[in-house]
Amino acid sequence: TDWSYDPAPESTSHAQIDEQYGLFIGGQFVAPQSGKYFDTLSPSSEQKLASVAEAGQADVDAAVAAARQAYDNVWSKMPAADRGKYLYRIARILQERAREFAVIESMDGGKPIRESRDIDIPLAAAHFFYYAGWADKLDYTFPGSKKPQPVGVAGQVIPWNFPLLMAAWKLAPALACGNTVVLKPAETTPLTALKLAEVIRDAELPEGVVNIVTGAGATGAALVEHPGVDKVAFTGSTAVGKRIMQALAGTKKKYTLELGGKAANIVFDDAPIDQAVEGIVNGIFFNQGHVCCAGSRLLVQESIADRLIRKLQDRMQTLIVGDPLDKNTDIGAINSSMQLEKINGYLALGSDDGAELWQPECALPSGQGYWCKPSLFLGASQSSRVVQEEIFGPVLAVQTFRTVEEAVTKANNTPYGLSGGVWTDKGSKIFKVTSAINAGVVWANTFNKFDPGSPFGGVKESGVGREGGLQGLKEYCVLN
Ligand code: NAD
Repeated sequence: TDWSYDPAPESTSHAQIDEQYGLFIGGQFVAPQSGKYFDTLSPSSEQKLASVAEAGQADVDAAVAAARQAYDNVWSKMPAADRGKYLYRIARILQERAREFAVIESMDGGKPIRESRDIDIPLAAAHFFYYAGWADKLDYTFPGSKKPQPVGVAGQVIPWNFPLLMAAWKLAPALACGNTVVLKPAETTPLTALKLAEVIRDAELPEGVVNIVTGAGATGAALVEHPGVDKVAFTGSTAVGKRIMQALAGTKKKYTLELGGKAANIVFDDAPIDQAVEGIVNGIFFNQGHVCCAGSRLLVQESIADRLIRKLQDRMQTLIVGDPLDKNTDIGAINSSMQLEKINGYLALGSDDGAELWQPECALPSGQGYWCKPSLFLGASQSSRVVQEEIFGPVLAVQTFRTVEEAVTKANNTPYGLSGGVWTDKGSKIFKVTSAINAGVVWANTFNKFDPGSPFGGVKESGVGREGGLQGLKEYCVLN
């Protein structure tokens, strides 16, 4: 599906960023009780965009209390169709303000404006539309179970790679089922979540149904460990996901964890090669490779490896690394100095491991900003860290294989199991390989395709539970 759309005529690209943002608790923006604020920067200019409140334990307590009150008194008791109407309103307002959201998303996070305009923002609106439609149909949806009940107060923690979209993935299903929410955005990209708080206020959601607490990891930990939270939804790194699982052990909280990935794109000798090259490029360079399901490993059949790699290198020569707000940009800014350091660390490591690093001649913007060239590691060995570990940057590890069995074995040989891709002309091979890959989603002759109706999530160290579709709704219901 093409999620781009003609924005409503009133859609404006005028991005109004305030100097300072409070916490959104009980329907109001309030100052943090500690009085502490932190800066959010533009990764392309390293300039401060705004100061943002740092929520401490007392603020998290207040947000959870507001969510509880809204849950008990209003939201869980409301006719389901009315909840749906509020979600439709959020979706519509997001569409109306789409251009403004796209600009702010690119300024705060560094992603190319083409991507925030055509993917992040419209897909976020699509999630609200999709789950709005479910709100009044839930009662008839789970045969054999009683009327589904909401879980209660959801504590939701999200990462920086798709700030608004991840907020939509979390909020829309939770609200449709009658839960109330406290959401914690990532510390480097809080602005579109705070703008979403304005949307929620303008949609006149009852106070306390959605609360947004900004801050770093400690704020997230205070939220997920809060005894007033009934359901935890976390998207982020596997390391933090494991810590959260430990913290929740012995509690009765429901949880879903969407964690890291190291997906293989497998290209067979009968694949449409030019199409595969586009898919590989999209798979790893979309959003600077800051994508949990990025196709960060290329497995190419030996007989076509030289030809495919040459075509891939030619295509990479045309990629433009630059200003996220320029419509010609293919690869924007790396999200933070910390992330750039991590990626550069892997670029050095890969060479030490014996793999050959290749980068196109493209120029990087001079002066300020965090930039990285699209990169290939040729001849990477299966046990090397660049093949086994999530880099979360524009870096592709290339390996070859001879047989279907070897391709599947290599694809499955990492701790992760989030996604994968298969490129072949043969339907039978698609069935065989997609079912043999141990991952939550496997694309065939395409990559990085998302739809609100399709469940998404991982196996192994990539997580627990699903988001999207009916499966995503079930995670926010008590069924018996
Ligand atoms: P991260 O785990 O460092 O942070 C994610 C969020 O958790 C942030 O909001 C952070 O402040 C918060 N946090 C940090 N420590 C916490 C703690 N102890 N308790 C609670 N919250 C805490 O991850 P990141 O660097 O922001 O994001 C990148 C990671 O997210 C990658 O590994 C990527 O694969 C993963 N990711 C997964 C999916 C998916 O759907 N599977 C989607 C996007 C990103």
